[in-house]
Amino acid sequence: MTSLYNTCSRKKEIIGSPSHSLRANKINLFVCGPTVYDFSHIGHARTYIAFDVIARYLKAKKFDVFYLQNITDIDDKIIKRAAETQISPKSLAKRFEQEYIKDMEELKVLSVSKYARATDYIPEIVSQVHRLLEKEHAYVIPDDGIYYDISSFKEYGKLSGRTTQQAEDSVSRIDDSVRKRHRGDFALWKFSKRGEPKWKSPWGWGRPGWHIEDTAIAEKHFGAQYDIHGGARDLIFPHHEAEIAQMEGISGKKPLVRYWMHTGFLTIQGEKMSKSLGNFITIRDFLLKHSSRLLRFFVLKTHYRSPIDYSEENLAQAEQELERIDEFVEKIKTLKSAPATSKNTKLIQETKKAFFNAMDDDVNTPKAVAALFELVRKGNVLLSKLALNKDDARDILALLKEIDEIFSFIFWQEKTAKIPQELTALLKKREQYRTDKEWEKADEVRELISEKGWQVEDTDKGPKLKKI
Ligand code: AMP
Repeated sequence: MTSLYNTCSRKKEIIGSPSHSLRANKINLFVCGPTVYDFSHIGHARTYIAFDVIARYLKAKKFDVFYLQNITDIDDKIIKRAAETQISPKSLAKRFEQEYIKDMEELKVLSVSKYARATDYIPEIVSQVHRLLEKEHAYVIPDDGIYYDISSFKEYGKLSGRTTQQAEDSVSRIDDSVRKRHRGDFALWKFSKRGEPKWKSPWGWGRPGWHIEDTAIAEKHFGAQYDIHGGARDLIFPHHEAEIAQMEGISGKKPLVRYWMHTGFLTIQGEKMSKSLGNFITIRDFLLKHSSRLLRFFVLKTHYRSPIDYSEENLAQAEQELERIDEFVEKIKTLKSAPATSKNTKLIQETKKAFFNAMDDDVNTPKAVAALFELVRKGNVLLSKLALNKDDARDILALLKEIDEIFSFIFWQEKTAKIPQELTALLKKREQYRTDKEWEKADEVRELISEKGWQVEDTDKGPKLKKI
């Protein structure tokens, strides 16, 4: 039985139990996607790798999962960046949507069934705003926008544990307007300002607020209620709280979502990695130096709800651990002699049980990774005693493949880090200095290369770059 932690009930609950029954084993999963105005960073990657593994695991457990993810392609941040870079918000969003999808492919985040662009759902958004006005959950501020009145929804705060009063304290990504009824009220529709992207509505030209796009997209594909909704923990309030108020306010059906799942942050020196703090590493930059399977492994070593502190040391440790798995896989793949007669079926069965038990317990990936290392440790002992036979090797490989359907960091071809173009250029420069017998200059370049984390190795076939 698989259990997941539900942020709303604050406990682990079994999927498909009578209180959370599923329709024909079907799981509709919605995860909040990125706002596409720039390259995504490895904090975003942490959240999307985590949900990729959650979706893959549920699929491995034979649930029929439909994974829907929105793309926020209209937002204040997009408009601001577009103005700074002097391109249209539409072109900017399109470009970074493509870059995001490219990053996800590199990271083998392949379980998403559909990416849904907010601007493709304007009629659905307008319909939701219309129904909220009809039910008096929303009100119009002339020359400004249409706002949700949080005092109209008695249960506002049930997910985050905040009261409407506390909602007033927080204005994080809540649209500011001095004319709102309450400080915590949020925009559903913003009347267009000069030069901004705009769509036609019964209330004049405008654009959607941030929270309404998700409920409109989800209602179109899933209806008024569905199974799992995820995102990182910063989305609990106000974003997900607002979604509940919107959809439950419209439909009267409760709950909007059976399981709310939230990931912990990827931090740097204890602080959330974010664009605004400037402490971020883009996925693109990360992949110039490291392999993408390393990022998946690094993320999965920690439980999805816990924070991960990123540092070069933590990453180097993960790299070493991954090498241990690689060495073991190599030995198993190339096992030639088969002196042992008895099969080690028990070891394989125990590993499988430990792996699936851990994953069944709220997707406990660190425990599942520990089961994998226990197999490596015990397998290595057996190999050193020549006590593994070919059948064992075949069964171990089959189990590792089963695990890798979910984790996807074991059987990648790509093991070496990609060499950044800048480094290749420096290496060429050094070669030129050597040809010109300018040894001091050549050494200086070598030094520069090593400061950038790479080492030059002079081999018979010429100089090679190796990651330090
Ligand atoms: P955004 O593009 O800022 O809307 O973020 C997209 C998703 O990535 C949201 O679910 C965020 O909560 C999540 N996210 C942003 N920064 C981090 C981080 N440092 N660690 C984990 N998840 C993050």
